Amino acid sequence: MEIPGRGTNMTRTMSLLVTGSIGIDAVQTPHGNRKELIGGSAVYFSYAASFFTPVRLVGVVGEDCPATLLHVFKGRDVDTGGLEVRKGSKTFRWHGSYVKNMNEAVTVEVDLNVLAEAAAAIPPHFKDSKHLFLANTHPRLQLQTLQALNGPKLVVADTMNLWIETERPALLDLLKHIHGLVLNDGEARLLTQKQNLVEAARSVIKMGPKFVVIKKGEHGCMMVSEGDTFVLPAFPTEKVIDPTGAGDSFAGGMMGYLASHTDHSMTAVKKSLAFGTVVASFTIADFSLDGLKAATRPAIDERLAHLRAAVTF
Ligand code: AMP
Repeated sequence: MEIPGRGTNMTRTMSLLVTGSIGIDAVQTPHGNRKELIGGSAVYFSYAASFFTPVRLVGVVGEDCPATLLHVFKGRDVDTGGLEVRKGSKTFRWHGSYVKNMNEAVTVEVDLNVLAEAAAAIPPHFKDSKHLFLANTHPRLQLQTLQALNGPKLVVADTMNLWIETERPALLDLLKHIHGLVLNDGEARLLTQKQNLVEAARSVIKMGPKFVVIKKGEHGCMMVSEGDTFVLPAFPTEKVIDPTGAGDSFAGGMMGYLASHTDHSMTAVKKSLAFGTVVASFTIADFSLDGLKAATRPAIDERLAHLRAAVTF
């Protein structure tokens, strides 16, 4: 099967590698139900980050994977050289519902399938990647990917309630090896057993990461590091059709911005959060990747200016 983008752009200067889930989603929102949608944490992340910098994607799907999923990055600067189509395995599937709460998905059903197997191999020419995003997947696979690289200078991970509840020791081990953790408010509370989010963030810092970003859906995000606390509202938007992928797109905008700049100071991280916030606002305006597909870099910059104006007084 031919996968567009495979093997192109071998030499990367702003190298950003992502691994995570690549799958098929079914979603229910107050705006309708959809099945057989392209989804997965690494898919949303890659598409979002590619507005800023070239992306190297590592992940695995089963042989049942539809061609639409393999061709989703056509025309984008996403190198799919690390995308494995595994014979005899089945693609990851997730069924989520936002009917009760648009800020937090309820997992109706999840079939890990190939995600429960070995991690995808990392192509040798990806191993020099300097920026790594470990999108939501099994923490054991996240750590394997991290350890296979030759000294990335910025490593940020995402996780979710499933892994916090079922793979806590593996997750705590991963946290000792990363610079930043991105997770939502409910997950931060579950991980730390702290209700107050500032307290929860401080507890995460004690687990290893230098900074933690807590996403709060329509209420924006908060970033806490040893010496700094930063808060940002969400982009004020009226059109929220399907929040799936908002978190991954947020991370894609954030990491894409950081990978395209040499400055990784906390000031730069704060600006990256504003880009992440804006990119996520495109994702939620439609089902699957359709909202992101409608975005352009000038439109992202325009919304960034609106966001800046909305928080300046
Ligand atoms: P979010 O950005 O948090 O809305 O992530 C949505 C994506 O995460 C969906 O496209 C799902 O396919 C994917 N997903 C859901 N559950 C998991 C899981 N346990 N591991 C990895 N990916 C998942």
